[in-house]
Amino acid sequence: MAEKFNEFEMAQKQFDAVAKQLKLDPGVAETLRWPMREYSFRIPVRMDDGSLKVFQGFRVQHNDARGPNKGGIRFHQSETFDMVRALATWMTWKCAVADIPLGGGKGGIIVDPSTLSDREKEELCRGWVRNMWKNIGPRNDVPAPDVGTTPQMMGWMMDEYSRLVGQYTPGVFTGKPLGGGGSLGRTEATGYGVIYTVREAMKHLGIDPKKSVAAMQGFGNVTQYAAIGFIEMLGGTVACVSCWDNKDKCAYTYSKDGGIDPHFLLTITDQYGTIDKKAAEKAGYKVEDGDAWITKEADVLMPGALSGTVNAESIKKMSKRVKIVAEGANGPCTPEADEYLKANNIFDIPDFLCNAGGVTCSYFEQVQNDMNFYWSKEEVLEKLDQKMTVAFHGVLDMAKEKKVYMRDAAYMVAITRVVKAMELRGWLTGSF
Ligand code: NAD
Repeated sequence: MAEKFNEFEMAQKQFDAVAKQLKLDPGVAETLRWPMREYSFRIPVRMDDGSLKVFQGFRVQHNDARGPNKGGIRFHQSETFDMVRALATWMTWKCAVADIPLGGGKGGIIVDPSTLSDREKEELCRGWVRNMWKNIGPRNDVPAPDVGTTPQMMGWMMDEYSRLVGQYTPGVFTGKPLGGGGSLGRTEATGYGVIYTVREAMKHLGIDPKKSVAAMQGFGNVTQYAAIGFIEMLGGTVACVSCWDNKDKCAYTYSKDGGIDPHFLLTITDQYGTIDKKAAEKAGYKVEDGDAWITKEADVLMPGALSGTVNAESIKKMSKRVKIVAEGANGPCTPEADEYLKANNIFDIPDFLCNAGGVTCSYFEQVQNDMNFYWSKEEVLEKLDQKMTVAFHGVLDMAKEKKVYMRDAAYMVAITRVVKAMELRGWLTGSF
């Protein structure tokens, strides 16, 4: 029987390999391969039918040497503690690679949010904060949305925190709604950030973006704006997107001759990123099984759903035309898939570089909250492009210098920066 995929083991494996190459002190490596702090708690919620239901919540703070922990809160039925640990660890590397002064955190609740009413969701959000408020804050840990959570939920969470501490504290959560302390450009940031890195990768590889085709997985926040960006900023074609269908409990791939129209698909997509299958078919879209996205004739593959979806099995179905894998999702490629990409000389833009646009814009949101002065969307996106472009080239330079694969280069850049911060704070000579 195949071993169950474990994200945290994968995050540790990736780290160990690079720690060895960097000849990291064993004690420092042991510190960084585990989170510094972990919280696990139960949240009772009075449901609309009068019953009391108890949900499992988590928060993991991996490393805050470079600044307050930062990372999303995921509401998903398959959430595990190890998944949260892995995501928190990747956040440390992501903030370091993007060179923003923040550490790594992640949280979540085991729940399918589509089964909850708005009132139940609000209660759950406020319950999460009541458990964690003493251990989060603008100066120590700043959560944000992730899979299954929305700007509205961040608004409720920020409100609960502000009530508990007795003062309006918008900088405690990012990804808040506009007008409620949110930043312009945050909705687009992760997807557009993916495209800024794809643009730079194409320049490096000498690919004409206008003649290029992308196949994308997922159709949530990341993929929606990556698809729009690929078409509108690069002039390319998006062959397909895919999504999980909550009614049928399976994933589907949606494609169209000449490419999909993300703006149209958005009109028939719900808040959880599920496309209305009937409406898509009516509009001439071809609907195939969930794995079909990876088989498409494309130059760029953009996994933008969950982790582990590009694996030993699915990668065998990948088209020979693929030149770039842009990891919009967190942890989409398993170590086996990585080996295949390396062996076939496919250029990988690793997750914690590729999707760093979201956290970078979250950082901008915090800065604006602190100043109580808000930037225009153009200003936010311009600053984002600059940050992503510099981050991409920092990693590419490292890959060229050390003759390593992009993921290893990104780890080298990130680990070196985190260790440097630990050293500068005196953590490596005393205790912390
Ligand atoms: P989302 O909840 O908005 O959308 C997720 C999408 O994936 C939905 O369309 C859903 O239907 C689809 N999906 C779920 N299971 C699937 C399956 N088996 N096959 C195909 N599609 C499936 O989430 P999001 O915010 O777009 O995040 C997507 C990924 O990107 C996650 O890994 C997340 O951690 C990562 N990420 C998100 C952000 C952000 O700012 N939103 C930032 C960095 C990383």
